[in-house]
Amino acid sequence: MTTASTLPHLWLPYSQMHTAPFPVEAQATSGSTITLADGRTLIDGIASWWTACHGYNHPSIRRALIAQAERMPHVMFGGMVHQPAITLAQRLAARLPGDLERVFFTDSGSVAMEVAAKMAIQYHLNKGHTGRHKLLSFRGGYHGDTLAMMAICDPEEGMHRLFGAALPQQILADLPTTPAHSAALEALLARQGHEIAALIVEPLVQGAGGMLFHTAETLRQLRRLCDSYGILLILDEVFTGFGRTGTFFACEQADITPDIIALSKALTAGTMPLAATVARKTVFEAFLSDNPLHALMHGPTFMANPLACAVANASLDLFDQEPRLEQVRAIHTQMTHELEPCRHLPGVRDVRTLGAIGVVELERLDDPEALKRAFLKEGVWIRPFRRIIYLTPAFTITPDELTHLTGAIKRVLKEHL
Ligand code: PLP
Repeated sequence: MTTASTLPHLWLPYSQMHTAPFPVEAQATSGSTITLADGRTLIDGIASWWTACHGYNHPSIRRALIAQAERMPHVMFGGMVHQPAITLAQRLAARLPGDLERVFFTDSGSVAMEVAAKMAIQYHLNKGHTGRHKLLSFRGGYHGDTLAMMAICDPEEGMHRLFGAALPQQILADLPTTPAHSAALEALLARQGHEIAALIVEPLVQGAGGMLFHTAETLRQLRRLCDSYGILLILDEVFTGFGRTGTFFACEQADITPDIIALSKALTAGTMPLAATVARKTVFEAFLSDNPLHALMHGPTFMANPLACAVANASLDLFDQEPRLEQVRAIHTQMTHELEPCRHLPGVRDVRTLGAIGVVELERLDDPEALKRAFLKEGVWIRPFRRIIYLTPAFTITPDELTHLTGAIKRVLKEHL
């Protein structure tokens, strides 16, 4: 087999280049399909890491991109602002719950989360709360691949274990989904709550950690605990934001407002790199003073790139104009109905769905590459990882395309388990 290392010059993500198969080459995308350089067309089950919510190459997104490219593709954001960013910030603030109203733009989910962590730690410093410099996160969580984010991902499950000794020591707990875990978290906070700047969680779904679901009540409990211990609540909605769980933001289902929220991925419908860290008024106000050291010292070169902001505005227009959340509900109903029979296949541990997320969890997955190859033969782009096979399609996927995806999962599992 030709391996990825024979590909000249490129270094691929999450890949042992020595053994990973030579990658397929994408040439064009449209709707829910990816056309490969060899002429094959695949139905995409995962919308390019959960980003392409309106399908690929949507005409109104493309038009917005071209119009902005003709006017001003990029300009720096230091001491200078522009209308696409002003409009986008105002629209995000209007969509978000409560007084989440100050938007700091960056260019990836990891960096949005870095900024969230910095904001939380500096919030306490600026307020004169001494000793609150730790972050509390949860087993099964994933927040990005930068050093600070690796430090709050689950080191056992995650791919960052190797770096353990190089990372700042943070606090990892079990999500309080059982009475024992709730009691353990309460005890931890009673002991160490005064050292914690922020509690960080992906609301309703821990995505890259294995598509693990928890309830709105768990989130409400975390909000209550943060309030009692003076800890800021950071919600990482990089994956869940923009309709994926059935509501525009996952936190709406718990009726809570976090102190800081991170958004990316479907923010630009997967068309341009952009992310936003949005803070409550009270958080922002802690940075206002005559002391220059109280300012937030962060500023990526490409923050608030006008092309990306224009595309994000066009994406929000589509959410206003087209029935996306109804489409998510229809996908949920169909996916639940079509994936549920997998539960009875030998080797399947669980089948679960939420919004436009469908998961088949296996007892074990020894050779994910064999499954990936089988999916390619079926004409679908599905990438099993850990012990799961999952679907996170575009919200515009047709019922027939979705049936093709769920049918491929059933056929491949029958053949390979
Ligand atoms: N947070 C969550 C919940 C994610 O799912 C991801 C990426 O999958 C990230 C953060 C990191 O985002 P990025 O890959 O854009 O840095």
